[in-house]
Amino acid sequence: MRDLSGACLCGAIALQVRTDAVEARECHCTQCRRQSGHVWAFLTVPWDAVEWSVAPAIYQHSDKADRGFCAECGSYVYWRERDAGTVDLSAGLFDQPTGLHLGPPSFTGNKGDYYQVSPWTPSE
Ligand SMILES: [Zn+2]
Repeated sequence: MRDLSGACLCGAIALQVRTDAVEARECHCTQCRRQSGHVWAFLTVPWDAVEWSVAPAIYQHSDKADRGFCAECGSYVYWRERDAGTVDLSAGLFDQPTGLHLGPPSFTGNKGDYYQVSPWTPSE
């Protein structure tokens, strides 16, 4: 286990995560592309493992899921299925070195038509 720290763009939201998760994922689905602006990368951790300096604002994505964001700067900080017990944190929030590596991409069949997805190769 280690502690990851991170923040939104303006710093109003800071977070600490105690986790052994090391594999971030990238998602090419239409939902992730539209709400992030391109491909969204995230780290899945237990909801209870995250300590927030300030609770993110919530956009109710559906009757099951929320997206957390900073009310000051608009940064997209998480996506969460309310009943899942986990949260997908935007990978770009974390302070470096993150100790993370990128796993295989998801939903490449729904990717945008303006880019190619390179064949995935595991990092060592
Ligand atoms: Zn912010």
